[in-house]
Amino acid sequence: MSDKNIKNIYSKNAGIKPVFSFEIFPPKNIKGEMLLDETLNELRKLKLDFLSITCGAGGSINNKTKDWSEKIQAEYDILTMPHYTSIGIQKETVASDLQQLLEIGINNIMALRGDLPHDYDHSQNSFFYANELIEYIRNLNFDFSIGAACYPEVHKEASSKKEDLMYLKKKVISGADFLITQLFFINNHYFDFIERCHASLIEVPIIPGIMPITNFKQIEKFTNMTGCQFPKSLLNKIDKCDNNPDELYKISVEYSLEQCQELLDAKVPGIHFYTLNQSNITRKIFSQLSY
Ligand code: FAD
Repeated sequence: MSDKNIKNIYSKNAGIKPVFSFEIFPPKNIKGEMLLDETLNELRKLKLDFLSITCGAGGSINNKTKDWSEKIQAEYDILTMPHYTSIGIQKETVASDLQQLLEIGINNIMALRGDLPHDYDHSQNSFFYANELIEYIRNLNFDFSIGAACYPEVHKEASSKKEDLMYLKKKVISGADFLITQLFFINNHYFDFIERCHASLIEVPIIPGIMPITNFKQIEKFTNMTGCQFPKSLLNKIDKCDNNPDELYKISVEYSLEQCQELLDAKVPGIHFYTLNQSNITRKIFSQLSY
């Protein structure tokens, strides 16, 4: 690992080589752990730039997220960025959580709000929006690169594109070093978003988040969860391969490959792959990209 700070990796590679990152989640059981270890063994061969590890919302640094981040850096020699949500966190725990990360060699954090639980009581907590957590972390003056989330198709709670962008800018001013987008399937949403960001003088790297599809249920789940648009033409193709996983795989690889290649041709700073802990399809796409 030549540089442990993701911010520097983006700046060193700017205009030279795209930065590739993959996202995984901490497995819930032994079977999932074994699958993730297999995936990591394969991913390590790709020489990706970093891996981010999601967390559930609430409390303090998620132990599983922290442990996997540590293990992946130590055993697989891949730089990691644990996710960290502001929901339920008290100010006092932030410094000690981050100190723990520094002690195990982690200098990157993806700072998020997290999805709100129905019974969320703001008065009991130190932070609400992600920008408050980001500002707090930045003011601790630790040696951390801070990533944050953004939404080319607008966050589901925002009342308008304009408002969402205004708050995004606040997040960057608060100290976010780079932004990773919510998954999207239609590149024009990303390109349009980038234009709006530039017009608002948001100038940090904005990394497209891409999720190769592996089954129909997964598409339904993620489009419902994120509100992202799924292209009708692709849906029609997928509809026709109901009981044919090989055909679905082929269609999915073709689509994501084309999507990623168009982004790379447009000189994006990198691509962040949502892997869902499976390496096969992402590796297949990754190996065919030219840049
Ligand atoms: P915020 O930036 O706080 O924005 C939330 C909403 O509030 C937006 O509508 C925004 O416009 C509005 N807003 C922001 N600031 C203000 C303000 N100051 N005043 C008024 N309104 C404001 N969730 C997890 O639980 N764990 C994860 O590991 C995780 N990883 C993710 C990774 C990526 C790349 C992305 C894109 C999302 C991830 N999420 C994760 C989901 C995320 O937590 C949710 O989308 C959540 O609803 C919003 O988080 P945020 O950090 O973008 O929030």
